[in-house]
Amino acid sequence: MKLGIVGLPNVGKSTLFNAITNAGAESANYPFCTIDPNVGVVAVPDHRLDALTEMYHPKKTTPAVVEFVDIAGLVKGASKGQGLGNKFLANIRECDAIVHVVRCFDDENIMHVVADTSTNVPVDPAGDIGVIDIELIMADVEMVERRIDKAQKAAKGDKKYLREVEVFSALKDWLNDGNSARSFDCDEDDAAIIAAAELLSLKPIIYAANLDEEGFADCHANAYYKVVEELAAKEGAQVIPVCAKLEAEIAELDGEEKKMFLDDLGIAESGLDRLIKASYALLGLISFLTSGEDECRAWTIKRGTKAPQAAGKIHTDFERGFIRAEVVNFDDLMACGSMNAAKEKGLVRSEGKEYVMKDGDIVLFRFNV
Ligand code: GDP
Repeated sequence: MKLGIVGLPNVGKSTLFNAITNAGAESANYPFCTIDPNVGVVAVPDHRLDALTEMYHPKKTTPAVVEFVDIAGLVKGASKGQGLGNKFLANIRECDAIVHVVRCFDDENIMHVVADTSTNVPVDPAGDIGVIDIELIMADVEMVERRIDKAQKAAKGDKKYLREVEVFSALKDWLNDGNSARSFDCDEDDAAIIAAAELLSLKPIIYAANLDEEGFADCHANAYYKVVEELAAKEGAQVIPVCAKLEAEIAELDGEEKKMFLDDLGIAESGLDRLIKASYALLGLISFLTSGEDECRAWTIKRGTKAPQAAGKIHTDFERGFIRAEVVNFDDLMACGSMNAAKEKGLVRSEGKEYVMKDGDIVLFRFNV
């Protein structure tokens, strides 16, 4: 599960990406993570895992992680395949969701770049978002045209493909009007047809509004931020305010230092931490936790995962031999002060194979070997 960081040049992508790599988790501990200089692996902040670590003092604490890919160089014209354009779009295609960094800060020393040849023009979040959107949408038009061709040929043998021709034709008109596939209104069956096309403008998106320090301190008073918020609201997307420069500094601090720094700024949570959490949720991911003297750990699952499949994340044997899951709610455990106390109060539930895991469940799996 990876998120691609996109945006025009000079909006602060690399700065934000550096913050991610500074804050980064050791990717060696996460064998499923990609090892690539453009991929940053970062821990998902989780107050439950912190509290469990305080309770158990384990030898090791292992957080859940997300991967971000720095996709630099997207400019006007990318979808025409000029230069490296196609490569950027291919990189986005490999991601599960998009973080679109939008410049919301003035700085006359930093050029506002829209196209390869552009001169310095005023900061314009709506215009910038439009430029990137159009590139993704135009790339999608091409994909959709190919789908229509294929479905038309297939429909000669089997009429059921006519629906695909219709759906993709309607989508093509929608895209050609400058709209994202994300906002195309259709029923579930048609959505399944469209999902198979792996369109760029269908990927879930979060906007990271990159503000200067002043703007970050009070984003709702910032005119650029408001513009991003309004555009995002139309798509039902989230906006996270960040100050990339500040995030890069914060990411170098640890624990107590970081807390003091944030307290001084009067904020509870860094923009990057909020962005990471929002990204995790955007991917449809939740965490369950395991605890013990050896290790306290957060495990990543898709929302809706049942107990045996969650157990399978730890070990395939756990899934195969699944008997039951002993589950305690985080708040209940904290209120009791220890696992034994929670058991005595009957707050540790025994759940079977149909149990749908909840975010923050603290679990012990029982299984046959
Ligand atoms: P990228 O091209 O999108 O990767 O942008 P960079 O991260 O390289 O940033 C471009 C320039 O903008 C660099 O000189 C950064 O130091 C600067 N920059 C990034 N974020 C901010 C910010 O929040 N405020 C100000 N004033 N400058 C920033």
